[in-house]
Amino acid sequence: MAAAAVAFGPGLAGTRSASALPVGADAYLRLVPELFAAPPTAPDHSEVIVVGSGFGASAAALRLAESGSRVTVLERGLRWPRDPQREIFTTDLLADGRGLYHRVAFIGPTGVPVTCDDFAGVLDVVDYPNLSVWRGAAVGGGSVVFTGVMIAPDQRFFEHVFGSRLDYREMTSTWYPKVRSMLRLDAMPQDIYGAPEFTHSRRWDADARAAGYSPHRIDGIWNWDVVRDELAGRVRRSAIAGESNLGNSNGAKFDLTQNYIPAAEATGRALVCHAHRVLAVGQEPDGRYRVDVEVVDPFGTVLRTRTLTCDRLVLGAGSIGTTELLLRARHTGALANLDERVGRGWGTNGDAVLVRSFAVTDGFAGDQGAPSASRIVDESGMPLSLENWFVAGTAKDVGMLASLGMTLDPRRAEVTYDAGAGRAVVNWPSGGEREGVEALRAVHNAMAEAGGTVPGARPMAPDVNASFTAHPLGGAVLGEVTDGYGRVHGHPGLYVVDGALIPGSTGTVNPSLTIAALAERNIARIIAERG
Ligand SMILES: Cc1cc2nc3c(=O)[nH]c(=O)nc-3n(C[C@H](O)[C@H](O)[C@H](O)COP(=O)(O)OP(=O)(O)OC[C@H]3O[C@@H](n4cnc5c(N)ncnc54)[C@H](O)[C@@H]3O)c2cc1C
Repeated sequence: MAAAAVAFGPGLAGTRSASALPVGADAYLRLVPELFAAPPTAPDHSEVIVVGSGFGASAAALRLAESGSRVTVLERGLRWPRDPQREIFTTDLLADGRGLYHRVAFIGPTGVPVTCDDFAGVLDVVDYPNLSVWRGAAVGGGSVVFTGVMIAPDQRFFEHVFGSRLDYREMTSTWYPKVRSMLRLDAMPQDIYGAPEFTHSRRWDADARAAGYSPHRIDGIWNWDVVRDELAGRVRRSAIAGESNLGNSNGAKFDLTQNYIPAAEATGRALVCHAHRVLAVGQEPDGRYRVDVEVVDPFGTVLRTRTLTCDRLVLGAGSIGTTELLLRARHTGALANLDERVGRGWGTNGDAVLVRSFAVTDGFAGDQGAPSASRIVDESGMPLSLENWFVAGTAKDVGMLASLGMTLDPRRAEVTYDAGAGRAVVNWPSGGEREGVEALRAVHNAMAEAGGTVPGARPMAPDVNASFTAHPLGGAVLGEVTDGYGRVHGHPGLYVVDGALIPGSTGTVNPSLTIAALAERNIARIIAERG
């Protein structure tokens, strides 16, 4: 354990103290010593550098490595192990620094306040004017913290969003199935749906039916055998105990650290460097790309800064991360030919969290299982979907029912660069989500009335909460800032592969399947055409 601590830098363990709730360095070192292992050293020059290790980045890294390129992946977050019995990740109810990425105070959507250490936790929450944005910060990106729903949009919604940019038939015949098989996506099996921990899912479906909807099962990334092990008491409870937002310690969530990322490493040509925060990117006169990066310890102390170079640069830092790097490069002139539309076309996927209370859940008093069972679609007004969600951050089922709502809201915002603060700013207009919230509220109220429940859970949680998004999309939109395959205009060898490509919405479904499938499509073309 001590050796692991020394690996990141002499004297790390015990030298940094906790903030408001003292958990502190010694506790993290004891609980998850793996987090303190030194990251690999990135080569000074790589054929390909991939920034980030989420859905788009991991798919691109694997395919490029398979095609023979030497790939260096730079990920700002830590590399988290998994263990059937240990608590690797923290919990929503009593979160410590492992939960949030360098943020010490936070109120979750169900109103539970969190105060913790300044640590490289897995969930990055950043407040912008009128909107907070949630995203993953770990090897595996958003796959570590997401709720695991991976579904494709209906054709009419897909075409509404993408127009002629993408061919729906090509996506559904080739690229969605490719990701589905890689990630073993599947709907919740009946035996799990029937377990007490999913009483809330059955109740949600019953309320939807009572309101006249036909809930249908949706695919998830969950390893149902691990969920069964949890139900049988063979492994530590996690997915069935309402854990997901801050990670699942036992591997129940089949995140990217169990498929794309190890597959890339198994080629022998991909090196994943965690704790590497990319500060800036640019292009040299000889055409090579330059990447300024700092190596940070889990408490955020900068251990080294380096400038790396590569022949080709793949941006997979997510909608916010990639857009920020591009905006900064445009501001400094490091990427001189960028399109003026960088930062535009940004949206929240029209998402909101909805809560109802006073639901009788058949006397079940335990935690709500995290995997989502089903979904409904409503097109009576602004098209939208509601998914069965879980209530995190309560030790007991407190009679609350949650949904995730996604509308086809046309609202878009521009992300700009605040040079003084050195960061991107999402300029979400005050009340910009109002129309979508009203559309969601109408369906939510119908389900509440039909099911004999009450919208909201005051004073803890409003009925429809769109004060944050977990689905940031856009900023380097496909066919605008890039060509139709993510190749950045004006900079040969520079690609965007993540949610920044998506024009603000994935058409009333969660974005990750579309992001990964689009990355598979684009990188296949880039490899075939050698650039
Ligand atoms: C709580 C929660 C629940 C969600 N549930 C679902 C769901 O059920 N289904 C679904 O489809 N989507 C869900 N999402 C959204 C989903 O996680 C994202 O849409 C998806 O992960 C985006 O993929 P990406 O490839 O664009 O980037 P990401 O997966 O966000 O990956 C980007 C990576 O880049 C890294 N990075 C960023 N900046 C830098 C930098 N400067 N240097 C180095 N590395 C950097 C980040 O740490 C991150 O690992 C959820 C999100 C959250 C937060």
